[in-house]
Amino acid sequence: MKRIPVRTCVGCRKTATKADLTRLVLRGGALVPDPEGREPGRGAYVHPRLSCLEAALHGGLARSFRGKLSKAALSTVDFRLSTSSESRNV
Ligand SMILES: [Zn+2]
Repeated sequence: MKRIPVRTCVGCRKTATKADLTRLVLRGGALVPDPEGREPGRGAYVHPRLSCLEAALHGGLARSFRGKLSKAALSTVDFRLSTSSESRNV
């Protein structure tokens, strides 16, 4: 049997496979999506949907990137994630 790696969504705290989550990394003080998982350093996983993202911004993400998150970074990732979730739902 093949073991599928799972990650915990920092929004809803449920586990899901990496394919179902978007990895976010901190780069130059901004949160950026890292869909291919190539960026080094600390990452956080979140479902690419607005409800999880909002929960993450208020809780899990702030903990994951303690003290390093700026308001500008949050608005950037908010925009990009909501865009990608819309295209997924087509
Ligand atoms: Zn979630």
